[in-house]
Amino acid sequence: METQVIKIESLDEKDKIHQAATALGQGKLVVIPTETVYGLGAHGLREDSVKGIFEAKGRPQDNPLILHVANQDQVLDLVQAIPPAAKDCMDMFWPGPLTLIFKRSKIVPDLVTAGLETVAIRMPSHAIAHAILEEAAIPVAAPSANTSGRPSPTRVSHVLEDLDGKVDMIVDGGFTDVGIESTILDVTVDPPTILRPGGVTKEDLEDLLGTVAEDTSHYDAESGTVPKSPGMKYRHYAPQADTTVFAGNIENVAKEINRRIQENKGEKVAVLCTTETQALYQGAHLLLDMGSRSHLEEVAKNLFNSLRACDEAGVDRIYVEGFDFEGLGVGIMNRLLKASGGKVVFGL
Ligand code: AMP
Ligand code: MG
Repeated sequence: METQVIKIESLDEKDKIHQAATALGQGKLVVIPTETVYGLGAHGLREDSVKGIFEAKGRPQDNPLILHVANQDQVLDLVQAIPPAAKDCMDMFWPGPLTLIFKRSKIVPDLVTAGLETVAIRMPSHAIAHAILEEAAIPVAAPSANTSGRPSPTRVSHVLEDLDGKVDMIVDGGFTDVGIESTILDVTVDPPTILRPGGVTKEDLEDLLGTVAEDTSHYDAESGTVPKSPGMKYRHYAPQADTTVFAGNIENVAKEINRRIQENKGEKVAVLCTTETQALYQGAHLLLDMGSRSHLEEVAKNLFNSLRACDEAGVDRIYVEGFDFEGLGVGIMNRLLKASGGKVVFGL
């Protein structure tokens, strides 16, 4: 299939927004920029279109999709009820990087929910995504626009690497802002429970809702517990090179990484560090500054791009600095744990 790339720089480009919205309405596969990562969109109420998403990504069919909407009214048809906590979250955090889990209505295809009785819904804040969704006036199923297992795409070059020739259209909207996927919050249970950490933090949610729980079963592969968000059980975000994360006192982290660089002298080693620590490293083949430790939004924004850059540079090994499990650090560490297949050295 020929993939058409259209660049949309402003909301004034109404023809192009119309073109993307029409293609979605016709059941085509259209990649759209969102504020989190690029999404591989398709008509969320058409089983045949949704099937195309799974094929293009090579996504396991037991991993459900998030439906994207342009306004709160669109949610009504898709769910059985909107619990008060959900309404509070919608008013406070939508549009934005928060996905809510509702009891599904009958019109949602089984393929979207992977047979679950619940459906995941989000309203993106990205202006172009919003304009396309509003014009299409349908819920759009859109998982991250990468090949399953690879780091999520935060720019069009990443999407092309994975999906060129596999989708009808890609809307180029520049770099994505948040850089990691939405927080997923289950509001069908009490207390509301975070199934995946992301752009909206637990602290943000607790300010609004009081007690918020977190499903951490996916951190412990040996526990045998099944994560409530099916996608969390898969190896994810993984670069090709062997990846290890180092967490603890940051000077000790740098010392340990330097020691390992020396130990693996024959190999090309990449180090993903932070602005504050960049000067501490010697001998890395590739040294990438992900951003400042006092502005974790920068780190989140650069995370997937940094992992993909390591693949491009063909390194053998990646060492990544870890972060505290606090605020946005929780979402970043969640992605790093998956990217490294759980290879984290804690307590340095
Ligand atoms: P992605 O869009 O690629 O970030 O993946 C969507 C994520 O949402 C996956 O981790 C899914 O497991 C999760 N998800 C989608 N629908 C549901 C649901 N009904 N219940 C729990 N998790 C869900
Ligand atoms: Mg994904």
